[in-house]
Amino acid sequence: MKKSNVEKTFAMIKPDGVRRGLVGEIIKRYEQKGLRIVAAKLIQADRETAEQHYSELKSRSFFNELIDYITSGPMMVMILEGENAIKMVRMINGPTHIEEALPGTIRGDFATSTAHNIVHGSDSYENAQREIKLWFPELEENQLKLSVL
Ligand code: UDP
Ligand code: MG
Repeated sequence: MKKSNVEKTFAMIKPDGVRRGLVGEIIKRYEQKGLRIVAAKLIQADRETAEQHYSELKSRSFFNELIDYITSGPMMVMILEGENAIKMVRMINGPTHIEEALPGTIRGDFATSTAHNIVHGSDSYENAQREIKLWFPELEENQLKLSVL
C-alpha cells in the first residue's frame, strides 16, 4: 500500500472572494475533500508582504496590478492539512488561466478573469513552508509540527 503523505499547505481567499461572500463556499469545498483547517485569519495585506509572497513573479508585466489586487481588501489566509494537501488545494482551486478552469473548480465556477481568480494555493513543499512563515509569523516552528495547534 502507498505510504500516506499528510502535509500542510497555505491557501488564501483573495479580496474578490471575500468581497463576494464566497468564504463559506470555498472553505466547504476544501473541508469536503478531507482538508482540515489548522489556522485561519482575515487580514488586509500590506504591499511589502504581498510583494514577498509573489517575489517569483517580480519580472512579470502584471506584477504591479497583482499587488494592487491582492492588497485591495481583506483576505482569508489559512493553513490546511491533509493527504497530498498541496496538490489537492490546487486541484480544487483549478488552473491559473480562466479559459482552462473547468466548472467544478473554484476558479471555473467563480473567477471573472485570469487576474481576478478568487483563490491561491502553494505550488510546492518549499513554497508552502515559505508562505506559511510569511503569513503566520506568530506561529512557532514547534507549533507548526503538531497536527493540532
Ligand atoms: N496572474 C495574472 N495574469 C497572468 C497570470 C497570473 O494576473 O497571466 C495573477 C493571478 O491572480 C494568479 C497570480 O497572478 O493567481 C499568480 O500567478 P501564478 O502563475 O503563480 O498562478 P497560480 O499559482 O495562482 O495559479
Ligand atoms: Mg502560483
